[in-house]
Amino acid sequence: MSNVLEVTDLRRSFQQGGETIAVLRGVDLSVGAGEIVALVGPSGSGKSTLLQAVGLLEGGFEGSIRIAGEEAARLDAQGRTRVRRDSLGFIYQFHHLLPDFTAAENVVLPALIRGGTRAAAQERAETLLAALGLANRMAHRPSALSGGEQQRVAVARALANRPALVLADEPTGNLDEHTADIVLAEFLRLVRGEGSAALVATHNERLAAKMDRVVRLHDGILA
Ligand code: ADP
Ligand code: MG
Repeated sequence: MSNVLEVTDLRRSFQQGGETIAVLRGVDLSVGAGEIVALVGPSGSGKSTLLQAVGLLEGGFEGSIRIAGEEAARLDAQGRTRVRRDSLGFIYQFHHLLPDFTAAENVVLPALIRGGTRAAAQERAETLLAALGLANRMAHRPSALSGGEQQRVAVARALANRPALVLADEPTGNLDEHTADIVLAEFLRLVRGEGSAALVATHNERLAAKMDRVVRLHDGILA
């Protein structure tokens, strides 16, 4: 099957106090359809920088980023928004849920923004939240949920539009070890069931070992 992500010779530097720091020095990475890849590296190695580039959230890089077969690295803002909306899902260390909306509404919104019907969006949200054990938390606001529940809602939101590729940056990094294990296992089970691919940044080798493949960021390149 074709790759959902093909990154070729990705380079990203930052200017800091008159110095140039080369964080990504020619990253090559392919992720197959439905494949779950752990992106491992110590703090400061450039995991978030790589995910932000692949997520088309920040410019300033050189190289090629093909997402679902389309060269996305040099799209204009409108094109980047389209690829993010149609092909990508995002999960961060902190949930970034909208505080004034319920769990269900937070999961419904991506589908509405994409142009789906409210009924279909609602059904999809309820299916995902129920699969994550949140059937009786749908009407709760984020502030009324535990940290693990908040991250489960963020997982459901990321999967709402059936993305080809989920990008997750330390998705359980803010949870205690026991909760992190449970939420990661649920995340992996759901992503596998959906057939989405995922690129998951973590500095936790134990969590990385549960994924299909591990790539390591070291000195600005992947090994
Ligand atoms: P990780 O996610 O692996 O911890 P990051 O991608 O956040 O690493 O950071 C990699 C390096 O890039 C760090 O040295 C960090 O200080 C630097 N960096 C990240 N973003 C910026 C920025 N906007 N400006 C300057 N330096 C940055
Ligand atoms: Mg990071």
